[in-house]
Formats: sequence, structure tokens, C-alpha cells
Amino acid sequence: MRYQYWNERMETLPREQLFTHQVELLKWAVENALRTPFYKERLKKAGVNTPDDIKSLDDIRRIPFTTKYDLRDGFPYGFVSVPKDDIARLHASSGTTGAPTTIYYTKDDLTRWANFMARSIYATGCNKSDVFQNMITYGLFTGGLGFHAGAEEVGMLVIPSGAGNTARQFRLMRDFGTTVLHATPSFLLHVESKMREEGFSLNELRLRKAFAGAEPYSEDTRRRIEELLHIDVYNSYGLSEMNGPGVAFECQCKNGLHLWEDGYFGEIINLDTLEPAPDGEVGELVITCLCREASPILRYRTRDLSAFYPEPCACGRTHRRLHRITGRTDDMLIINGVNLFPSQIEEVIMSMKEVGNNYLIVVEKEGVLDRLTVKTEVGPDVFWDDARLLNALKEKIRKTLQASISINPRVELHENGSLPVSEGKAKRVIDSRPKDV
Ligand code: AMP
Ligand code: ZN
Repeated sequence: MRYQYWNERMETLPREQLFTHQVELLKWAVENALRTPFYKERLKKAGVNTPDDIKSLDDIRRIPFTTKYDLRDGFPYGFVSVPKDDIARLHASSGTTGAPTTIYYTKDDLTRWANFMARSIYATGCNKSDVFQNMITYGLFTGGLGFHAGAEEVGMLVIPSGAGNTARQFRLMRDFGTTVLHATPSFLLHVESKMREEGFSLNELRLRKAFAGAEPYSEDTRRRIEELLHIDVYNSYGLSEMNGPGVAFECQCKNGLHLWEDGYFGEIINLDTLEPAPDGEVGELVITCLCREASPILRYRTRDLSAFYPEPCACGRTHRRLHRITGRTDDMLIINGVNLFPSQIEEVIMSMKEVGNNYLIVVEKEGVLDRLTVKTEVGPDVFWDDARLLNALKEKIRKTLQASISINPRVELHENGSLPVSEGKAKRVIDSRPKDV
């Protein structure tokens, strides 16, 4: 395969040269950070008084971690390094796990972000002849405007359709010959279900690719979307604290996400020791933003679980790849003492053909015990009136799950298209147990 690069020199820079470049960027990030109220104090305490205290990449370990709580405490301007007049835009994180945090950008920050986004889009083989439908929330969430700017930079025809309203989405796809979609994986699955329901044929469309991100999903879910919509699906990772999307992205090899290391310095740390984990070992992803002046954030604990693939990628890019995010340190459920990540359930059920595109995990207290219920839609070809068949399917799902997660779940089947769908990030878990237990 012939691979195309947005910035060939930077994307294929030999790693030694990349390290040298990173040291310079890190010094710049520290210089910016020293101008913020939060880091002025934090860095001085750690003995980092000037950017020249950073002499090598190892020196990053002199900098303490920054957490979500620090960002909240610093709200609204504790992390700003430039005069307010130089701020061109702000975004806020979705706040799904608590109060939102705000990130600020100068004009140059926005240009740099758009460039990382363009690089990501280009790495998937898209170019200016593509028609891009951005089916994700615009607004404070970074996914809408982030992709929008990157796609414009590539020169694609951009349709800022936003999330939701599937009927209108189909019309736009058909009328303007959309070739590339961006959405959450759960919304892509919903789109496919609706398309079938409303009798839209893929033959009327010119779809060929989609970018799916903003929430975890399994390899089976990717494959399912690809098979149902006859497209290539690329994993897109980002977070508002690190600008938004365009932090790490899959190339055409679709085997891990290249972390753009000339914009983001990544570390994987062991959850117990908080020390660097060896390559290949799963731990928490910690990122330092090397490309934003207005809100410098150093060694941010993302709470996302991933691992580095140490081997070089066949595409020729030298930037290391991350394993798809398997979950967050804070989304682990403990059910009667057994640890469970929602992604383990998704992995099992999305590989079963009879299971539909949507599911929900419910955890409740029943007496002294925890009760796990997995609600899944059945596939469109499963006959909803055949009680015997449904019972057998339920039992099959229960047994397969039990073998894989070591918990005996209750399984509930729901008619195709009947479980709630979210336009943004999917809400997959309802845990109604009292919090103090
Ligand atoms: P936000 O700051 O609201 O954009 O949320 C960022 C969070 O969304 C990340 O920290 C991840 O937990 C999650 N996320 C984003 N992209 C992905 C992805 N491709 N796979 C898994 N989780 C993702
Ligand atoms: Zn690659």
C-alpha cells in the first residue's frame, strides 16, 4: 500500500531527532506553565524554576502529575498563561464524571490543533476530494469544531450536520454524496439500525470511511460497523484537556493509534506504583500537552487505560502507537468482589451475530448482594415472537458472559431498536447501588 503523509518529515522523523525536538517543546510548555498561577507554585515546589531546568526527556519526571481535581480547583483561570485578550476560544469537557473543566486556546493554538487533526484525517487515506459529514455534537464539546477545522484544513467538503436527527443525516448523505463520517461508535450503530428501519439502501450512498471515537469500543464493534455499513472505521482518540480529538489516531494499518509525539508527550504508568510501565503493559495514560500556549497542562492523568506498541508501524510513521483504550480507571465496577470493566461485556456480546446494536448494563443491590443485568437488543433477523428461540438465545448469552467475566448475569432481551440511544457519548452503565456501601 502507498501511504500518504500530511507532514512527512515530522511524521517519519527518526526517533532520536524526535526526542531532541520534544525536549525543546517541553521547555516551551514549562515556560508557559510557569506563567500560570497553578504551575508557578507547583513547579517551584518541585524545584523546576526555569525552562532550563529541563535538560532531557527524563527530567519530565521531576514534574508532579496534574489531575482532574487540580483542573477543577484551578477553575476558571488558574491554568491560563496568556493575557485574556489573547484567548481566541474556550472549550469545556463533557463533565460526565463531575464538574466540567475549561480549556483555552490562542489563535496559534487553534492552528496547531487543526494541523494535528488534518494530519490524523490524512493518515486514514482521506483527501480534499472527500465529502465529510461531521455527525457529532458541536459546541463546548471539542469533537465538533475540532474535526471541522481539521477537515477544512485538508480541504474536504465539510457538512457540519451535528449529532442526532438520523432522517436528515441520511438525506444529507444521499444529496451531497458523503464519503466520510465522524460519530461516536454507538451513534454509527444507531444510524445503521435506523437506515434499515427506514428502508434506506447503502447503494444510494457513497460512504467509504468513518472516524469513530469519544468513547471506548471493542474490535468486534469496529468490525460490526464496518460490515454493516461497508466502510473502513478508524479509531480517533482525544480529550479536551489535550485540545480535543487529534491526540492519537489510527493510520491505514488500523493496528493501534499513533500518538502525535511532537504535540503530546505520552507516558503509561503502573496504577499501583505510578512508575513508568514497560512497553506493552497496560496502565494509565499520562499526557503532557506540547502544543498549547494558553492552557498548558503537564503530566495529566487521563484515567484512560492503554499500552504502547513498541514495534514500528508498517506505514513508516515513527510516532508510537497506543492500544485502543479499553476503559477508564474510574469505570471499573466491583460486583460481589469481582472486578469488571464494561468493555469486557461489550467484547462478548458484540461478537454474537444474534445480538443487536445496542446494550445497557444495570447494577443494583438485591439484599446484601450486587446484581448485574445485561440488557441487549436482539438483531434484526431474530424473530421476536418465538419465545423458545428467545429463551435459548438468552441462555446462550448468559453462559458466554459468565464464562468470560466470572459473574453470573441476568440477561434481558429487548426488541431491535428499543433501548435508549444517546446522541453524544453512550451511557452504557446504570449503577443504582448506594454509593457509601
Ligand atoms: P472529553 O474530554 O469530554 O472529550 O472526553 C475525553 C474522554 O473520552 C477520554 O479521556 C476517554 O475516556 C474518552 N475517549 C475519547 N476517545 C476515545 C476512544 N477513541 N476510545 C476510548 N475512549 C475515548
Ligand atoms: Zn501507522
